[in-house]
Amino acid sequence: MHDPAVFRTMHKDRFHAEPEIFVGPGRVNLIGEHTDYAEGFVMPAAINFATLAGISPRTDGKIVIYSENFREEKSFEAAALPAKGTKEWTDYPMGVVSILTGEGHKFPGFSLSIWSDVPPSSGLSSSAALEVSTALAVLSLVGASYPGPKLARLCQRAENEFVGANCGIMDQFISVNGKANHALLLDCRDLSFKLAPIPDHIALVIANTMVKHSVAGGDYPTRRRESEAACAIIASHRPGVPFLRDATLEDLAKCGKEMEPKSYLRAKHVISENLRTVAACEALAKGDMKELGRLMNEAHWSYSRDFEGSCVEADTMVELAQDLPGLIGARLTGGGFGGCTINLVEQTEAKKFAEELGKRYAAKTGIKPEIHVCRASDGAHKL
Ligand code: ADP
Ligand code: MG
Repeated sequence: MHDPAVFRTMHKDRFHAEPEIFVGPGRVNLIGEHTDYAEGFVMPAAINFATLAGISPRTDGKIVIYSENFREEKSFEAAALPAKGTKEWTDYPMGVVSILTGEGHKFPGFSLSIWSDVPPSSGLSSSAALEVSTALAVLSLVGASYPGPKLARLCQRAENEFVGANCGIMDQFISVNGKANHALLLDCRDLSFKLAPIPDHIALVIANTMVKHSVAGGDYPTRRRESEAACAIIASHRPGVPFLRDATLEDLAKCGKEMEPKSYLRAKHVISENLRTVAACEALAKGDMKELGRLMNEAHWSYSRDFEGSCVEADTMVELAQDLPGLIGARLTGGGFGGCTINLVEQTEAKKFAEELGKRYAAKTGIKPEIHVCRASDGAHKL
């Protein structure tokens, strides 16, 4: 992580005021892809890659936001907030300010510095890390706070309503509520959750294919529409299936013929993924790593073949990991179409695993990947 002292100095040099600093972690999803907006289950962990948000009040009524990553500063009037996003990175923090303003908070002017080591658009949720760290920062200015699940919902609304990205609740929820050395099984319907300890001998090896995706881009909403169309057909036969979370594989077998072939496959992934996610949490809780690995591998190929949410590079990264010593399970993580794979690996083999996987991937694709041995970390907090 960036040295907080360096970050503090950066803020002071730019804005001539002492900041308060808040951390919002990125996340890796161990299993449960595209199940969140179907009100199903996901099992992410917050990771030790995070966004720092430094904030100090201003007296000129301006909101000035600087991103060290983008090396760009933008200015807004606190008394005349934009109503909608403008397709720029500032939409994420300004979306949070806008949604919280709608909740009745009145923010004075402030200076906000942002720095992150969560690689953007790589499936590790730099967007939620930015929203959540910003939310804690601006709420601190007005002395307000929210319970974790509510704060996550407000940040999700910023992304849905202001940024215009139709994401589910997972990313914001885990960035707020993550716990060190634990994965979190989240029921996206009622936001109830269960923590499952990740044993010490397991490392989270995150391998970035370096292929970028965008949640706000076209493929993610298309997949979402396709799976929702399948759900509508099931619901026309069996009322009480508002979301694919409520559908079964038997429903799919019965109604599948009426669906567009692509819709059928999307729904097959979502329904089976939901079952796998709950089973994976049970396996983790029991320490049954073999079963957990099997479920992760099955999840990857369901994501790739049925949901068509992967890409050649991510499939390659998963395939190249299979016979490396120490691997428990590997799959593409996040919204899809690129980004990172998550590899659960025996801690003793993790370093060698990362090196060897990197070499193999570079040799096969000509792309130099970034591979990190990570650990599950705490959710957002003040430094
Ligand atoms: P992901 O959340 O998987 O990283 P998204 O497409 O949801 O991908 O969000 C990435 C976007 O979030 C970036 O394109 C940028 O607009 C914004 N963002 C993330 N981190 C930063 C940062 N440190 N500074 C400025 N903008 C950021
Ligand atoms: Mg995102």
